[in-house]
Order: sequence, then structure tokens, then C-alpha cells
Amino acid sequence: MLLRHTTKEVRERTALTVNPAKTCQPVGAMYAALGVHGCLPHSHGSQGCCSYHRSALTRHYKEPVMAATSSFTEGSSVFGGQANLLQAIETIFAVYEPEIIAVHSTCLSETIGDDLNQIVNKAKDEGKVPFGKYVIQASTPSYVGSHVTGYANMLEAFVKYFAEKTNEKIRQINLLSGWVEPSDMRELKRIMKMMKVKSVLLPDTSDVLDTPMTGKFEMYPKGGTTIPEMVSMGDSMQTLGLGEWATTKAAIMLDNQCKVPFDIIDIPVGLKATDRFIQALAKAGRVSIPESITEERGRLLDVITDMHQYLYGKRVAVYGDPDNIIPLIEFLVDMDMKPVYIVSGTPGKHFDSRMAEILSERVPEAKYKNGPQADMFLMHQWIKENPVDLLIGNTYGKYIARDEKIPFVRMGFPIVDRIGHSYFSTLGYTGGLRIVEKLLSAIMDKQDATCLEEKFELVM
Ligand code: SF4
Repeated sequence: MLLRHTTKEVRERTALTVNPAKTCQPVGAMYAALGVHGCLPHSHGSQGCCSYHRSALTRHYKEPVMAATSSFTEGSSVFGGQANLLQAIETIFAVYEPEIIAVHSTCLSETIGDDLNQIVNKAKDEGKVPFGKYVIQASTPSYVGSHVTGYANMLEAFVKYFAEKTNEKIRQINLLSGWVEPSDMRELKRIMKMMKVKSVLLPDTSDVLDTPMTGKFEMYPKGGTTIPEMVSMGDSMQTLGLGEWATTKAAIMLDNQCKVPFDIIDIPVGLKATDRFIQALAKAGRVSIPESITEERGRLLDVITDMHQYLYGKRVAVYGDPDNIIPLIEFLVDMDMKPVYIVSGTPGKHFDSRMAEILSERVPEAKYKNGPQADMFLMHQWIKENPVDLLIGNTYGKYIARDEKIPFVRMGFPIVDRIGHSYFSTLGYTGGLRIVEKLLSAIMDKQDATCLEEKFELVM
């Protein structure tokens, strides 16, 4: 109803985005910084930006998100925000006592030309950074990229600042995580424990944004990658980056700075991407794959085989972040579903080639696009032209789902009208089971609600 005026005819647009399939860079920078223990994200810009970034994260994770701001006023907007940031650094260390302040820029501070590097160095020179405390910075103007590039830039800043190479290699691997849920980070750690691979996971938002209710407020919850862990990353045997968009920059930085070789693989969503992850983990950690992992794989395969008839041939529309939807699309195709429409607001040159690789033979009719004009409006237009059986993406898809009466599975960021994502992982083989369960429930609920009485089944 709300989008009933969306037209079917697609017109080429070059400068207009309608309902973008992304959000702004600092949201990602803030999320990455929250995955480091004792770190306080700091938004160098207006209070409004910081409030938006915090509320975007709080609404998704249902947890308080702590962050500070340079609180630009009219004066700082014209003359620059150096004085505000210098004052902020001093005040934050005195009042909130973080280990690290992770500063990211905003559209406003980038437009007026504030040099974060220079300001942070000035703060150090003036003794505003106490001994043993740190300030790092990342450039995250939101008129380029998306929340994913903001996340990638902050991840790069952490390894650049902290990773150190000594002459002694440590038998551990670095696992750079793409933007996934706290539940997913917990799952990655569980898998690495099962595989007996010692690793440093960066960032790690488990036990930060999924904390238990204890009745006591913790400004810095117990989770998050620690400073010694980040320092040790320079001596690791190898880096595995999960997600090309989110982790490549940090992996390259580690290689250049500390000579730690890297591989970039997909986030382990679904069967094949998890296979690749497990194999990469076994190779990097020089371990064999335990039987318990093989059994988890077998359970996922069993469920897919049992329920294949409900999934086969279903036309699906998917939108979200490239690192997350690329392996998801591969998984859907492996289950004989047809991902026919795919959009991602995050730019990046490999999107088309990855999509072609997965879809050209199995779903040749698929339409896909990424970048600023790959928005929710375009996806709705495609759906209006030729409907789909299922829609997968973040909360913003509920308008399209309601208008077009399409079963809707919430995956991605943000999800602000349901819970579960912080607690139930969709990574690995067990996470794959969760995805299959969600897809089947949505499809079967629609069948139960709309099928003819004589087709209404008790056993499905
Ligand atoms: S002004 Fe820029 S940084 Fe601030 S909320 Fe808007 S898009 Fe994000």
C-alpha cells in the first residue's frame, strides 16, 4: 500500500537513488569499533550524525550503543572541528576511561577538510592521550561507499595501528570478519574451537552487543578483540578475510606491514561457502577436519534433501550487502531456487563477475545490479514486472512484501522489527540449517494461508 505508486517501467537513472539498499559509512565504522574491547567509537561531526549511527545500531541489536561526538556547531562547521576533537579526546579519557578512542569522520568534517591524522597527532603531542591509551582514526565520508566500506576502513585502521611484527611467528591465524551478527562471531569461534585452530578474530562483537541482563550497566562489556590480540596479529601465520568488501583492505595492510600472507574467502553462508571456509581453516591452521564438523554438514544436507520439493524453482528477490548476499545467492542456487532479482547499494567492481559466475548457467534470466542506483525502488519495479515467490533482505523490504503479498525473510542489516539475528547464527552448517528453516517457514506459511481447502495439508 505504502509503495503502491511504484511503476513497472524501469527508466535509466544516473543521479537519483530512491530508498537506498545501504546506509552510511560511519555506521559501519562504529560497528567495527564496538568489536574491540574497551574501545569507544567517536564520530567527528555533528550530534545528529552520531545520534543516527547509534540509533541505527541500537535498533538492530536492541542494546545500548555507546559513542562520543565532536558536536560540531555552526562555528566548527565553518572553521573546522580541530578544537572540538582535541577537547573531546581530553574529556573522554578523563570521564569515560576507554582503552581506545576510534575516531571516524563524517560527511561534514570531510567536506570542510579536517585532517584526522594531523589532529590526532596534535592531541598526542599536547599530552591529551594518557600513557597506555590510544586514539586511532579512519576516514569515512558518506557520500562515497556505504556502511560496508566504513566497516572496512575502520578494520584497516585497527590493524595498521596495532599489529606488530617481531621475529617470532605464532602458531595462530588472523580471522578478519566481514559484517556479521554477534551470534555469527560466536559461531565462528565455536567452529575454530572444534577445529582446534588458534586464532584472533577481529572484530568480535559477541559479548558486546548480545550481553546478558545482569542488572548492572557495563560501559565496556567483556567481549571484543583485545589490544594484545591485535598486536599479535603481526606475528600470525596467515590471515583469512571473510568477505572481499569488508576485509581486503585490512588483509593487505597486514601483509604490507607485517608480511602476513592472506586469503580472502566468502563469509561462510550456506553449504559451499562453508565448505570453502572449513577447508581454508584446515589448511591455514594445519589441522584436519573433525568428524563433528562433517556431521553438521550431513545434517544440513539431509534437511535440504528432505524439503527440496518446497524450495525447487522458487523465484527469489534478494537485496543486501555484497559479502553477505554473494554466498547466500550461491546457496539458494544450490538448493535449486531461482534468485532472479538481486540489488546491493554497496559499490564494488567484482559484484557483476561474482554474480555471473554463480547465476549465468543456472539462472540465466537473473537481473542484478550494485552501486548507488541499485536501490529498493528498482527491485520493486522488477518485482512488479514479474512477481517472485520470496523476498530476502533487511527490514525495509517489508513495504514491498506487504504491497505485493510476498513471503518475506529478514536477513542483513538493519532488522529493526524482529529479534533473533543477534542470538541465532546463520553462518556455518548449523547456520545454514537456520536459513533453510526460515525460508521454508515463510513459504509454507503462505501456502497454509492461501491454498485451496482441498490442498490444505497437515503433514508437510
Ligand atoms: S551527514 Fe553523512 S555521516 Fe552524517 S548521518 Fe548523514 S550520511 Fe551519515
